[in-house]
Order: sequence, then structure tokens, then C-alpha cells
Amino acid sequence: MTIKRVAVVGAGLAGLTCARELTQAGLAVTVFEKSRGVGGRLSTRRVDWATFDHGTQYFTARDPVFTDWVNGLIAQGTVSQWSPVMRQPNPAEPWYVANPGMNSLARAQAKDLNVVPNTRVSAIKWLDGHWQMVFEEGAPATACDNATETTFDAVVLAVPNEQAVPLLQPHRADWAASLAAIPLLPCWTVMLSTEPVATTLQAGQPESGPIGWWARNDSKPDRSKNERQQDWVIQATSTWTEQNLNADKTVVIDELQKAFLVQLGVAQMVNIQTAMAHRWLYARRTPGLATLGSSLWHTQQRLGVCGDGLTHSRVEQAYLSGRDVAMSILNESPG
Ligand SMILES: Cc1cc2nc3c(=O)[nH]c(=O)nc-3n(C[C@H](O)[C@H](O)[C@H](O)COP(=O)(O)OP(=O)(O)OC[C@H]3O[C@@H](n4cnc5c(N)ncnc54)[C@H](O)[C@@H]3O)c2cc1C
Repeated sequence: MTIKRVAVVGAGLAGLTCARELTQAGLAVTVFEKSRGVGGRLSTRRVDWATFDHGTQYFTARDPVFTDWVNGLIAQGTVSQWSPVMRQPNPAEPWYVANPGMNSLARAQAKDLNVVPNTRVSAIKWLDGHWQMVFEEGAPATACDNATETTFDAVVLAVPNEQAVPLLQPHRADWAASLAAIPLLPCWTVMLSTEPVATTLQAGQPESGPIGWWARNDSKPDRSKNERQQDWVIQATSTWTEQNLNADKTVVIDELQKAFLVQLGVAQMVNIQTAMAHRWLYARRTPGLATLGSSLWHTQQRLGVCGDGLTHSRVEQAYLSGRDVAMSILNESPG
């Protein structure tokens, strides 16, 4: 059967890349996203006086196809290199960030695509040779009004492993079991705006303690700069996050801030203007577990899976995975 209409569940970089490849090839694609905006873990929190990349911090480019895409975005000014001042020697490969926030990478990929926001897909149903989306209660009216199609020839799930499992279970219990065996680990993230701290350091990856990574967000290119303010993102290790998974946000902010002061070697933070915390339940793949291939595609069922959860939790891998599943679909529908 020729595949003409495709539903993609999830508007992170993997889902958007899949949707873009298919749309460019002339297929009718609808992307369903449970959140208000696109990007998933490529996210930027904006308050009146600051922005924080509270998910992905930066990315690297190793594969030639991904590198080509990134070079195009560099030429447009959407991506820049970032070399923060760190205690550790600077990395050998370039670190890239999107401008003016990490979610600009996803926005670039979402341009002119048919994305239906605020719509959580709670099940996918196989009916009379087509796929139907079942939306979470409350969503159908909006989703159907905004969607150009409601039945599809093929479905691609581009969501974190834990969120793909219940959707897959009735149709491919084997895939569901494989994904369930690769949990994504959680990550508490704290965002602080402070008066300037007496340090030249702009990022760090502590080897012990509760913090896994911290960065001065306004040291990235194209972020708003203010001499009287610094914006910090502090990410806990997965171990600390698991131990404090249900802690109150005020406790998380307090504990991570204390550990952060130790990292900076200063006694106290001066005049904190913003202090926010965000809990990523599904942040990154458990390291060391088996990979499942760049994407999954089943020809007869016309069902696919993509995302970083299959291989490595890296932006590059999300892009390549989305592209890979799109290529499998296009191979089914030549011309
Ligand atoms: C704290 C943190 C730090 C990171 N740091 C880095 C880094 O420095 N460098 C790096 O390369 N990578 C980093 N990563 C990993 C990187 O962000 C991911 O690998 C990549 O963004 C994954 O993209 P994705 O499209 O596979 O998934 P996601 O971005 O998670 O997209 C999935 C989308 O699906 C939506 N969704 C889920 N369920 C449903 C449903 N039922 N219906 C509709 N929509 C649904 C979600 O809302 C989401 O928008 C980090 C991740 C986190 C969380």
C-alpha cells in the first residue's frame, strides 16, 4: 500500500525531523504534541528578565548528515559554537547551541509543519486498515479541529521510551518490552538569576556530589546580557534526583544552590532574583544498556518508533533517528 498520510506522536527533534523529511517528500503529515510548544527536551524557559535552557545544554555533531544540517543553521545564525570557561580543559570537538535559546533548533525544524499542540495521544487504534488517534479526555475536539486528518496510513511514535510503551503494547508487545527495559533517568534542574558572582567560570561538570552539570546561561551567544545579573542552570545527577524525586521544589532549590556555592568557592549567592526548579522525569537513557538500532519500522503494521531512547541520549541521535524512520517509510512509498 502507498503511504500518503502519516501521524507523528511527539514534537521533539526526532518527531519533527521525521515529519519534515516526509513532508518534503510530499506526504501529508500531522504531528501531535501534548505540550503547548515544540521541542520536548530542547527547551528554553523565559521569564521577563532572563532565559534558561533548562533541558539540553549544548550538542555536538559527528555524523556527516547531521553536520551538514548544523552547518546550514550556523550559516543562518540559528546555531553558534559555545566554548565556556571551565576548570576542565576545553573539549576537543566543538560544542554548539541554538540561538536565542535551545528550543530554536526545534522551531527551525517545525517551520511550516502541521503541528497540533496541547494534544496528548492516549492510544492508537488499528481500524479498517488505518490508524486512528485516541486523544486524552478533553483533547479530541481541539485536536480534530486543528488536525487536517484524523485517520492515517502510518504512525510514528517519537516520545520517550516510558511514554511509548503503553501506546505500543496492544500492537507490538515485543517492542514495548524492549523499550521498557531501557528506562530514561530523571533530572532535577534549578534555574537562578543572581547579582554577579566573583568567578570567571561559566560551566562545570563536577565529579562528585549532587550536581552533574552547571552553566552560566548568559555566557551562551545571543542571550540577553545584563552587567548586573547572571543566569545559572544547575542540573542534578540522576542518582541525586532519584533519591529526591518527590522532594518539594523549595528543598531542591536550596540543596542544589548550597552544592553550587561549593563548586564556585563562594560563601553565598547575592540577591537571587529568580529561583525555579523543573523535574525532568525522563531526561536521558540509562548508560550502558543495549541499543535497539537507530529507529524501528514494521512494514505490515505501518508502525514506527524513533527518538534518542533507542540508542543514545544526544540531540544528534534524536535527529538521525527521526530521519532514519522517515527513510524507511519513504522506501515503502517510492515516487
Ligand atoms: C536535562 C537534560 C539535559 C540534556 N543535555 C543534553 C546535552 O547537553 N547534549 C545532548 O546532546 N543531549 C542532551 N540531552 C538529551 C536530549 O535533550 C535528547 O536526546 C533529545 O532532545 C531527545 O529528543 P526526542 O525528540 O527523542 O525526544 P523529546 O525531546 O523528549 O520529544 C518527545 C516529545 O513527545 C511529546 N509527547 C510525549 N508523549 C506524548 C503523547 N502521548 N502525545 C503527544 N505528545 C507526547 C513530549 O511532550 C515531547 O515534546 C539532555 C536532556 C535533558 C532532559
